[in-house]
Amino acid sequence: RIGRMPSERAALLEAIEGWQWEIDLRRSDRPILTGVVHGLRATYVKGCGCEPCIAANRAYNFERVHGQETDLVDAGKARARLQILRGRGVTQAAIVRATRIRKETLRKIEHGEARRILPRTETAILALTYEIVRKFELPDQYVDAAPTWKLLDDMIARGWPKAWIAH
Ligand SMILES: [Zn+2]
Repeated sequence: RIGRMPSERAALLEAIEGWQWEIDLRRSDRPILTGVVHGLRATYVKGCGCEPCIAANRAYNFERVHGQETDLVDAGKARARLQILRGRGVTQAAIVRATRIRKETLRKIEHGEARRILPRTETAILALTYEIVRKFELPDQYVDAAPTWKLLDDMIARGWPKAWIAH
Protein backbone atom coordinates (compact mmCIF):
# COMPACT_ATOMS: atom_id res chain seq x y z
CA ARG A 1 0.00 0.00 0.00
CA ILE A 2 2.95 2.30 -0.63
CA GLY A 3 1.59 5.81 -1.12
CA ARG A 4 -1.95 4.52 -0.75
CA MET A 5 -2.48 4.29 2.99
CA PRO A 6 -4.39 7.17 4.58
CA SER A 7 -1.88 9.23 6.57
CA GLU A 8 -3.92 8.88 9.79
CA ARG A 9 -3.53 5.10 9.58
CA ALA A 10 0.18 5.39 8.83
CA ALA A 11 0.54 7.67 11.85
CA LEU A 12 -1.24 5.12 14.07
CA LEU A 13 1.15 2.39 12.93
CA GLU A 14 4.15 4.66 13.44
CA ALA A 15 2.95 5.32 17.00
CA ILE A 16 3.51 1.65 17.86
CA GLU A 17 6.77 1.31 19.74
CA GLY A 18 9.38 -0.40 17.60
CA TRP A 19 7.35 -0.07 14.42
CA GLN A 20 9.45 -0.18 11.25
CA TRP A 21 8.32 0.32 7.68
CA GLU A 22 10.14 -2.74 6.54
CA ILE A 23 9.82 -4.17 3.08
CA ASP A 24 10.01 -7.77 1.96
CA LEU A 25 13.46 -9.03 2.92
CA ARG A 26 13.42 -11.78 0.32
CA ARG A 27 16.91 -12.96 -0.60
CA SER A 28 18.11 -11.73 -3.94
CA ASP A 29 20.83 -13.11 -6.18
CA ARG A 30 21.14 -9.75 -7.88
CA PRO A 31 24.24 -7.71 -7.06
CA ILE A 32 24.03 -4.32 -5.38
CA LEU A 33 25.36 -1.88 -7.95
CA THR A 34 27.68 0.94 -7.03
CA GLY A 35 27.87 4.40 -8.51
CA VAL A 36 24.13 4.48 -9.21
CA VAL A 37 21.10 6.12 -7.63
CA HIS A 38 19.25 3.53 -5.54
CA GLY A 39 15.52 3.31 -4.95
CA LEU A 40 14.67 3.67 -8.64
CA ARG A 41 13.06 1.15 -10.92
CA ALA A 42 15.52 2.24 -13.62
CA THR A 43 18.38 1.10 -11.37
CA TYR A 44 16.58 -2.19 -10.70
CA VAL A 45 16.31 -2.68 -14.47
CA LYS A 46 20.07 -2.09 -14.72
CA GLY A 47 20.43 -5.09 -12.42
CA CYS A 48 20.58 -3.68 -8.89
CA GLY A 49 19.26 -6.02 -6.19
CA CYS A 50 19.27 -3.66 -3.21
CA GLU A 51 16.10 -3.41 -1.13
CA PRO A 52 15.09 0.11 -2.25
CA CYS A 53 15.50 -0.79 -5.92
CA ILE A 54 13.50 -4.01 -5.50
CA ALA A 55 10.82 -2.01 -3.68
CA ALA A 56 10.74 0.58 -6.46
CA ASN A 57 10.30 -2.14 -9.07
CA ARG A 58 7.57 -3.81 -7.04
CA ALA A 59 5.74 -0.48 -6.65
CA TYR A 60 6.01 0.09 -10.40
CA ASN A 61 4.59 -3.33 -11.19
CA PHE A 62 1.80 -2.88 -8.67
CA GLU A 63 0.94 0.45 -10.24
CA ARG A 64 0.89 -1.11 -13.70
CA VAL A 65 -1.43 -3.91 -12.65
CA HIS A 66 -3.64 -1.96 -10.25
CA GLY A 67 -3.42 1.43 -11.90
CA GLN A 68 -7.14 1.78 -12.43
CA GLU A 69 -7.89 0.89 -8.82
CA THR A 70 -5.68 3.61 -7.43
CA ASP A 71 -7.43 6.44 -5.70
CA LEU A 72 -6.56 9.52 -7.71
CA VAL A 73 -6.67 12.99 -6.24
CA ASP A 74 -7.74 16.30 -7.73
CA ALA A 75 -4.86 17.89 -9.65
CA GLY A 76 -5.82 21.44 -8.63
CA LYS A 77 -3.33 21.93 -5.81
CA ALA A 78 -0.45 20.49 -7.84
CA ARG A 79 -1.44 22.63 -10.83
CA ALA A 80 -1.48 25.78 -8.71
CA ARG A 81 1.98 24.99 -7.35
CA LEU A 82 3.37 24.33 -10.83
CA GLN A 83 1.90 27.55 -12.16
CA ILE A 84 3.39 29.57 -9.30
CA LEU A 85 6.83 28.04 -9.83
CA ARG A 86 6.68 28.47 -13.60
CA GLY A 87 5.49 32.05 -13.08
CA ARG A 88 8.64 32.71 -11.11
CA GLY A 89 10.74 31.52 -14.03
CA VAL A 90 11.38 27.92 -13.01
CA THR A 91 11.99 25.74 -16.08
CA GLN A 92 10.09 22.55 -16.76
CA ALA A 93 13.44 20.72 -17.00
CA ALA A 94 14.28 21.69 -13.42
CA ILE A 95 10.92 20.39 -12.19
CA VAL A 96 11.45 17.12 -14.08
CA ARG A 97 14.89 16.72 -12.46
CA ALA A 98 13.57 17.61 -9.01
CA THR A 99 10.52 15.31 -9.07
CA ARG A 100 11.43 12.60 -11.63
CA ILE A 101 7.90 13.06 -12.97
CA ARG A 102 7.66 12.68 -16.75
CA LYS A 103 7.70 15.90 -18.78
CA GLU A 104 4.45 15.02 -20.52
CA THR A 105 2.70 14.33 -17.20
CA LEU A 106 3.84 17.69 -15.81
CA ARG A 107 2.66 19.46 -18.96
CA LYS A 108 -0.80 17.89 -18.69
CA ILE A 109 -1.12 18.84 -15.03
CA GLU A 110 0.07 22.39 -15.64
CA HIS A 111 -2.34 22.95 -18.52
CA GLY A 112 -5.32 21.33 -16.87
CA GLU A 113 -5.52 18.32 -19.20
CA ALA A 114 -4.87 15.97 -16.29
CA ARG A 115 -7.65 16.57 -13.78
CA ARG A 116 -6.88 13.71 -11.44
CA ILE A 117 -3.41 12.49 -10.53
CA LEU A 118 -1.70 9.88 -8.39
CA PRO A 119 -1.34 10.87 -4.73
CA ARG A 120 2.44 10.41 -4.96
CA THR A 121 2.59 12.73 -7.96
CA GLU A 122 0.77 15.37 -5.94
CA THR A 123 3.07 14.81 -2.96
CA ALA A 124 6.18 15.20 -5.12
CA ILE A 125 4.93 18.45 -6.64
CA LEU A 126 3.67 19.96 -3.38
CA ALA A 127 7.08 19.22 -1.79
CA LEU A 128 8.66 21.64 -4.25
CA THR A 129 9.47 25.14 -3.16
CA TYR A 130 11.12 27.80 -5.27
CA GLU A 131 14.27 27.47 -3.16
CA ILE A 132 14.41 23.70 -3.70
CA VAL A 133 13.61 23.58 -7.39
CA ARG A 134 15.96 26.33 -8.46
CA LYS A 135 18.83 24.13 -7.26
CA PHE A 136 17.85 21.80 -10.10
CA GLU A 137 18.20 24.45 -12.76
CA LEU A 138 21.82 23.53 -13.34
CA PRO A 139 22.30 19.80 -13.91
CA ASP A 140 25.41 17.90 -12.86
CA GLN A 141 26.43 20.46 -10.32
CA TYR A 142 27.95 18.97 -7.20
CA VAL A 143 27.39 20.53 -3.81
CA ASP A 144 28.84 19.83 -0.38
CA ALA A 145 27.35 16.56 0.94
CA ALA A 146 27.80 17.47 4.61
CA PRO A 147 24.31 18.96 5.21
CA THR A 148 22.73 15.90 3.57
CA TRP A 149 24.73 13.53 5.73
CA LYS A 150 23.67 15.49 8.79
CA LEU A 151 20.01 15.05 7.90
CA LEU A 152 20.49 11.36 7.08
CA ASP A 153 22.34 10.72 10.36
CA ASP A 154 19.54 12.50 12.20
CA MET A 155 16.81 10.41 10.56
CA ILE A 156 18.76 7.17 11.13
CA ALA A 157 19.33 8.13 14.78
CA ARG A 158 15.55 8.61 15.11
CA GLY A 159 15.04 5.05 13.90
CA TRP A 160 14.07 5.60 10.27
CA PRO A 161 15.01 2.49 8.28
CA LYS A 162 17.34 3.30 5.38
CA ALA A 163 15.02 1.57 2.91
CA TRP A 164 12.20 3.92 3.90
CA ILE A 165 14.42 7.00 3.60
CA ALA A 166 15.53 5.85 0.16
CA HIS A 167 11.94 5.29 -0.91
ZN1 LIG B 1 19.88 -0.34 -5.79
